[in-house]
Amino acid sequence: MKQVFNFSAGPAMLPAAVMAKAQQEFINWRDSGCSVMEVSHRGADFIEIAAQAEQDLRDLLKVPDNYKVLFLQGGGRGQFAAVPLNLSTSDDTSLHLVSGSWSSGAVDEANKYNNAKIIGQVVEHNGFQTVPKPALSDIDQSAAYLHFCPNETVDGIAFDWLPEAGNVPLVADMSSNILSKPIDVSKYGVIYAGAQKNIGPSGLSLVIVRDDLIGKARQSTPSIFDYALMASKDSMYNTPPTFSWYLAGLVFQWLKEQGGVEAMASINQHKADLLYSAIDDSSFYRNNVHPDNRSIMNVPFHLADPALDKVFLEKSKEAGLMALKGHRSVGGMRASIYNAMPVEGVEALVKFMREFEEHYA
Ligand SMILES: *Cc1c(COP(=O)(O)O)cnc(C)c1O
Repeated sequence: MKQVFNFSAGPAMLPAAVMAKAQQEFINWRDSGCSVMEVSHRGADFIEIAAQAEQDLRDLLKVPDNYKVLFLQGGGRGQFAAVPLNLSTSDDTSLHLVSGSWSSGAVDEANKYNNAKIIGQVVEHNGFQTVPKPALSDIDQSAAYLHFCPNETVDGIAFDWLPEAGNVPLVADMSSNILSKPIDVSKYGVIYAGAQKNIGPSGLSLVIVRDDLIGKARQSTPSIFDYALMASKDSMYNTPPTFSWYLAGLVFQWLKEQGGVEAMASINQHKADLLYSAIDDSSFYRNNVHPDNRSIMNVPFHLADPALDKVFLEKSKEAGLMALKGHRSVGGMRASIYNAMPVEGVEALVKFMREFEEHYA
């Protein structure tokens, strides 16, 4: 098999060791003669690995006991609806910090269920995008929650501060940066993430929710999105995405073997530094995000001459560097370098970029 590095934004690459383990167990899981995807979610074996996955996730993120961890379906966008349904009435206001296309999408969905109000947006200064920190005095303390996305997958925009919101619960869409670094879960009301970027295969969404915020879902909330109901049934009110849950569990074990999220944070920073230096050291490539707000997970960049985009994509693919095309709304290139991307992958990309520049500049 040809060695490639896959820079897809999502579904994204998974750790090679995890894929090998899944392959080894694929048709004969725990010597049962069956695949894990062919057994009941109510069986003792599955319940055991499901519970282990939850425990490993709790260990990795040091999730306090007064938080529930839910394994749901409907992806990140499902939570765009589940959050307003669980946390607000139709008369309530939800506050939104818009740092890019996903947090903007969350506003549109919330508006179907409550009064979504934008409290801050990306601004451009001298050609660089930045995210202004909202002032506490601008936060309406009667709002149901404040929603934000600390890592914008499409735009490559990120920020590592938390909005100061007083008593208003913080809700974070961490679809593309969960488990990339340590976080203080106790500062959040809800954290959610679609799995297919930094956790496992698509089909699973992880929700970490503080106890006092559950049990208030409005009556019309679909049962499968009701945090209290799902928590009371260990996320098995309906059939969960068993294979995705199993694979997420393997990823959590792999993360522990790597030294946990502390170790991942330093590797991720190193990978991002390699790539941003390569971009900043050349006038052939550029990135339009202010250095304070650059994502270490998703790195968009443009070629000075967009006429070369097509050949860049062809040649990079030939070199085994896959899925570098930028999102259609941003154009150019984007390298997604989640936990599973080894340093060698980023080194190979940087080498390719330098050679491409020498040849075409
Ligand atoms: C991918 C993504 C989503 C949407 O996830 P789906 O699972 O496709 O619904 C939402 N938010 C962020 C930050 C994402 O990266």
